[in-house]
Amino acid sequence: MNVRDFVQNGTRKKIGNGKATNIWEDNWIPGNKDGKVTSAMPQNCNIRRVDELISGFRWRKPLVLRTLNRKDADKILDIPISISGREDSNYWLHGGNGIYTVNSGYKALSRETAQHIGRKADEAETSSANSNGKQWKWLWKLKVKSKIKHFIWRSLNGLLPVNGLVFNRTHHGDPICDSCGEHNEFIEHMFFQCSRAQAVWKMAPIQWDGLTEQTGNFRVWWTAMLEVSYRTEGREHIELTTNILWQIWKRRNEWKFNAKRKHPWKTVNKGQQEWQEQASAWSKETMIPEDAERDGEEVEPVDVRSDEMHIRISTSVQKQTNSVGTGILATNFSHQVVLAWALIDRKTMNQLQTIAEAVKMAIIKARHQQWQKITVHIPSPQLLKVITTGVAKDIKMSTLADDNNNLRALFQKCSFCLDRRLDKRCDMISDYALGIFQDEEWINPQCV
Ligand SMILES: [Zn+2]
Repeated sequence: MNVRDFVQNGTRKKIGNGKATNIWEDNWIPGNKDGKVTSAMPQNCNIRRVDELISGFRWRKPLVLRTLNRKDADKILDIPISISGREDSNYWLHGGNGIYTVNSGYKALSRETAQHIGRKADEAETSSANSNGKQWKWLWKLKVKSKIKHFIWRSLNGLLPVNGLVFNRTHHGDPICDSCGEHNEFIEHMFFQCSRAQAVWKMAPIQWDGLTEQTGNFRVWWTAMLEVSYRTEGREHIELTTNILWQIWKRRNEWKFNAKRKHPWKTVNKGQQEWQEQASAWSKETMIPEDAERDGEEVEPVDVRSDEMHIRISTSVQKQTNSVGTGILATNFSHQVVLAWALIDRKTMNQLQTIAEAVKMAIIKARHQQWQKITVHIPSPQLLKVITTGVAKDIKMSTLADDNNNLRALFQKCSFCLDRRLDKRCDMISDYALGIFQDEEWINPQCV
């Protein structure tokens, strides 16, 4: 099996905006054997791309039912559509723990090509002697801030002032890593081996599990990463990776110099955000003072008259009609109901997904209200885990977890906690929703 087949067989398209996925040829249907549709393309059908089946972040249900057979249509209608409008991406099915990870699947590949990579690393070693080498050209071409390019360049050349290096050169200071306090801090420790760095990678949208064996030498790792990226998604992944490396370094400095602990999510989000903003980043190369760091998980001083909204979610399923009723309840600091929604929708195949969809709807509703601070009470410990760790078992959940985390970034504060099911009002709404034909919204006039 050649590399291409090997990758293709284990990969499914994860639908984002649907633009890059061909309905009839790509492997995009979850649960189908090779991921392809079982329907034959109807004669005179000119629908080719998945985005033609989508409108306003929803499936065009009648069209889906008309174009594909029932079996495919049901599976398609069950696929969550990303609200971020991101590009379709590849999802590796055989990741060790099912995390959305671009490269866990390349473990086998990187073994296969270890020799090849070793050779490349040697070349890199040689080319490092002259900064005009191919590798550097690659680096300077990346669409990332120039300070990040310099940072990578310094990292590759052993010029980053990590504690271990400083100590070895000057015999001053302490070689121990400030973040974990356990090991000497060399660049590989700072990027990969430190427990603090690993917490970041665990939550990152891109992971390089396949390169674990290369983490002992940053330059070897970098070369292998270029190699793998070059064959798959190309420059974008490299750019995202450099942003994450940069944020790991910034995070380390925040702790060392300002004694500020940053939540791994914050670090990942920041890297991802800067990556997405890369175009505009060109124009604002100057340093802008950072926003005050905020983390949902950190304990904030309790303000009694807080403007924070508490959002609770409940779902009721009716098997006969294949529908799900969702109740969303927003209460203020004094447990007063401010707004409530009853939504009726088609049931998804999996219960966890149903709840995740409901949570997403709740956050969207809160966003429409322009609330700045919310706490979302999650009615399932399992789902809470997916949301807080970003670790999802399948493509659908991974899209929903991504969405929830993208949405989260739109708030000044958005934290998640486990709903201890003390407030029964929400359950009443979801039961009620099963009997309605159109979504309903209630506003408490006392609160507007
Ligand atoms: Zn450490």
